[in-house]
Amino acid sequence: MLSWGLESVPRRWRIRVYGVVQGVGFRPFVYALAERFGVSGYVRNDPEGVEVEAEGEDGKLEAFLRALKEEAPPLSQVEWVEVEELPPLGTKGFVIRRSEGEGERKVLVPPDVATCPDCLREMFDPSDRRYRYPFTNCTRCGPRYTIILSLPYDRPNTTMRKFRMCPECRREYEDPSDRRFHAQPIACPECGPKLLLTDGQGKPLGRDPISEAARMLLEGRIVAIKGLGGFHLACDATDEEVVRRLRERKGREGKPLAVMVRD
Ligand SMILES: [Zn+2]
Ligand SMILES: [Zn+2]
Repeated sequence: MLSWGLESVPRRWRIRVYGVVQGVGFRPFVYALAERFGVSGYVRNDPEGVEVEAEGEDGKLEAFLRALKEEAPPLSQVEWVEVEELPPLGTKGFVIRRSEGEGERKVLVPPDVATCPDCLREMFDPSDRRYRYPFTNCTRCGPRYTIILSLPYDRPNTTMRKFRMCPECRREYEDPSDRRFHAQPIACPECGPKLLLTDGQGKPLGRDPISEAARMLLEGRIVAIKGLGGFHLACDATDEEVVRRLRERKGREGKPLAVMVRD
């Protein structure tokens, strides 16, 4: 016999989330919540933010919504949430859908975020496949603002679109239990951007870029380091002669320069 208690009546909600909600691991987060509360439906990015359709028993749906607001990923900033009641469709399972490109653009673009402790650990672990890979990132860290060409935030709308994911990165990207699940700028030494050291004419020098650049700096030379946001001109700050040359080239006689020190 079928008997529906009050709390077991299925309901379906369209939940719209606005704010800094793209590029911060929001979709994987919603996916994990749906699994946790046994809610079906989908999540996707659109130009306004994140859209969720969630279906489940009343109590579970409310718990899902509460957790969505209270446990949002650390890099996100939820500005507001709208909930609309829909007729239940009897859907099974929860999916991350392709982004919707239409609509008014309201979503806020997150900033680039410094490498997180988990990624740093991998970068310094000789047994890790990202050992010493400078472009290591995950859903919680890495470039965002600088690489985004258009929204919604998806790899084809970033400068990473030129880099085809290798099978191993693809596996991480598609695995809901992986911390790189849907990390759009995912990269590794196999498939991501590579470091390259060239001379002043752009001719590749073919040696290990990091140790070679360090050697050049110690030798009193000026190195232009291309980062995400442009070029940094670097030299040994304790070497008066090279600092003088840098000031000369920059035409910057007295204005202070930024100095980097360890820790
Ligand atoms: Zn990370
Ligand atoms: Zn890869």
